[in-house]
Amino acid sequence: MDVYYLMISDLVIIGGGASGFMGAITATGSGLRSVVILEGSSKVLEKVRISGGGRCNLTNSCCEISNLVNNYPRGEKQLIGLFNRFSTTEAIEWFQNKGVTLKVEKDGRVFPCSDSSEDVIKCLTDFAKKSGVKVFANSHVKQIDIIKQGFKLLVKGNKSFEAKNILICTGGHPSGRRLAKSLGHSIIQPVPSLFSFATSEKSLRTCSGITLDVQIKLTVNKKKYAENGSILITHKGFSGPVILKLSAFSARYLHANKYKGKLKINWLCMNEDEVRLKLDLYKLDNGKKSVFNNKPFNNLPRSLWKALLSSLNIDSQLKWADFSKSSKECLVKSLTMNNYLINSRGPYGEEFVTAGGVSLNEINFKTMESKICKGLFFAGEVLDIDGITGGFNFQHCWTSGWVAGKSVV
Ligand SMILES: Cc1cc2nc3c(=O)[nH]c(=O)nc-3n(C[C@H](O)[C@H](O)[C@H](O)COP(=O)(O)OP(=O)(O)OC[C@H]3O[C@@H](n4cnc5c(N)ncnc54)[C@H](O)[C@@H]3O)c2cc1C
Repeated sequence: MDVYYLMISDLVIIGGGASGFMGAITATGSGLRSVVILEGSSKVLEKVRISGGGRCNLTNSCCEISNLVNNYPRGEKQLIGLFNRFSTTEAIEWFQNKGVTLKVEKDGRVFPCSDSSEDVIKCLTDFAKKSGVKVFANSHVKQIDIIKQGFKLLVKGNKSFEAKNILICTGGHPSGRRLAKSLGHSIIQPVPSLFSFATSEKSLRTCSGITLDVQIKLTVNKKKYAENGSILITHKGFSGPVILKLSAFSARYLHANKYKGKLKINWLCMNEDEVRLKLDLYKLDNGKKSVFNNKPFNNLPRSLWKALLSSLNIDSQLKWADFSKSSKECLVKSLTMNNYLINSRGPYGEEFVTAGGVSLNEINFKTMESKICKGLFFAGEVLDIDGITGGFNFQHCWTSGWVAGKSVV
């Protein structure tokens, strides 16, 4: 038997994630009476729960908008106006005012002081409840029809809801994009972003677990990307913030090129001449010492030094006095422009997000309302907006959810 919820809601939000809850709390806080969240799964805010390794990196301390938007490979331009209204500072205040005490880590990432995502979930669910938001779990929206008063939503289990306005906040889930398409929106092809790189080369297998700051260049087909930052050597290839950042900015090109590319790593962040000079001076003072066991670069981990020497087939018994000019030149190249072929996308992204989604040209970024269908709003990852790691993905969810919640009113 079909179950109809007879009252027409002012706003039905599809998706009980970060952007959906922010949209709901903001809308009721601004005076909207009947706000409903329909969540397809059995639990709301599941991604908040698992985010940041269970700690929830909910935003970043970067507050200069011109710098902040540089952390978004897609959506950079559209976010300028949105961040002028609700940015990282406002998000931090919003949570602190609601009792979630926050801390900023050295790299600018913002976490709850408790290091527990449960605090963020409790804040959002408590405030939604207090504001009178009705949350229905296990309510996957299958279809949206336009009716005279607004929209009729058909929900799995033969339930249906009517709403004057709807806000689609379905994250990277394909069903949200399908619903948007059914209402006339174009979808930019979704591809993964924020992933590690796998290589079949085995020379660094002994270095798995090492983290260090590097300068790195990625070439995909003819397109080049360069970044500086911290890399993590894994047993399958490379990860860490700098790799995730490269993966985000090259997400589309890597996808189009079947995740094949070339990495050039400068392990020392020094130029060739500086490295050459250091090697020459070290050789002068340490002629009798073993090359494998004595290195001129304090910051370079020992196992990486040995792996690079082994990959050049340098004799493990060699003394610095016998270190030839040709070996030195090969080592200089290895230390400053070490090449690796990427042959696939690694399975472990720190934060896996979807690049692509509802086309940004079809959204009014003053309100988050569709330019195609009146009363239809979008927020969060369902849009073709995504950020790098560091709390930037949640930030655009808080921002777009907040603007949508204000605008429906
Ligand atoms: C492992 C992991 C860790 C992460 N860590 C961080 C981090 O620390 N910091 C950060 O900034 N970002 C992080 N992210 C990214 C961040 O989680 C997302 O960007 C964010 O959750 C997107 O929020 P959203 O509200 O748009 O969508 P979601 O949080 O994905 O919520 C969408 C909701 O909609 C529901 N839904 C989908 N379709 C339907 C439907 N048809 N009907 C009803 N409900 C539906 C889904 O079940 C889901 O609950 C992480 C991501 C992952 C995967």
